[in-house]
Amino acid sequence: MNTTHHDGVTASVNKRSGQLYIVATPIGNLQDISPRAVAVLKNVDKIAAEDTRHSGRLLKQLDINTHCIALHEHNERQFSEKIIQQIKEGSDIALISDAGTPLVSDPGYFLVKLAHQEKITVTPVPGPSALIAALSAAGLATDKFCFEGFVPSKGGPRKAFYAQRQKEPRTMVFYETPHRIVESLNDLCSELGEQRTVVLARELTKTFETIKNASAKALRDWIIADANQQKGEIVLVVQGFQAPEGETLSELAEHTLRVLLQELSLKQAVKLTADISGEKKKKIYHFALALKNSE
Ligand code: SAM
Repeated sequence: MNTTHHDGVTASVNKRSGQLYIVATPIGNLQDISPRAVAVLKNVDKIAAEDTRHSGRLLKQLDINTHCIALHEHNERQFSEKIIQQIKEGSDIALISDAGTPLVSDPGYFLVKLAHQEKITVTPVPGPSALIAALSAAGLATDKFCFEGFVPSKGGPRKAFYAQRQKEPRTMVFYETPHRIVESLNDLCSELGEQRTVVLARELTKTFETIKNASAKALRDWIIADANQQKGEIVLVVQGFQAPEGETLSELAEHTLRVLLQELSLKQAVKLTADISGEKKKKIYHFALALKNSE
């Protein structure tokens, strides 16, 4: 090719290397595909898809007949090298995933990294992502946020995962599966506190789209009471940690206090925390009261 327009339309003559497009596809509603994404997918030489059968249905609906090849997490390294070779030989290739933006909890990292190493042009064609869709509608701070991918599936690692994020001040975004949502919210309640604001963003852009902003406890109880909320695809958006007003403790003192408060009276927990951490009893006492009040 000698020209690559930004609408994705390419004309091929005598350019040596092709390029790699990273194309976002819908997360439910077909109409969310952009005209530019359709143009790119129609005009590239090949589409690398996570699941060719799944993407085949989408491409058929969009009347796109471009040849599809599989690039999934099990063959990513081996196939990335082949794809890069084809691009070097002049092919334009688009990467798509089953839904949303490739590389966001989806394959493609190795391919894109290799493309950069090989000085191949990588062009994003942005569009839907469950992460950004959920965040934009959650009603929580968006000036700073962190995306943490999927919550661990097993109880122990999941508790530890939430515990490690107790003091994360940014809004947090997690992907979660419907059959674990109740257990996950139980662990979130115990590690981040029942009053932490959490948003359930379920089935985004689809018929049963649900966005519910509530305290962790209220949200969990609401989901338990309605089995329909335990179905479909889920993003959790969680409010960041806000220190109780006026008082902060050292990490050791706060951790000790939180653990002891689960087993002992407030008075005993405060005394032992002061003995262990060396911090002033009065300060710990105020912090403990604020913690209790926020539960
Ligand atoms: N690459 C995708 C993206 O950009 O959003 C994410 C792929 S990841 C393998 C799939 C997870 O994304 C689902 O388990 C769910 O947590 C979330 N997800 C995808 N589509 C969704 C939707 N329509 N509503 C809510 N969550 C969704």
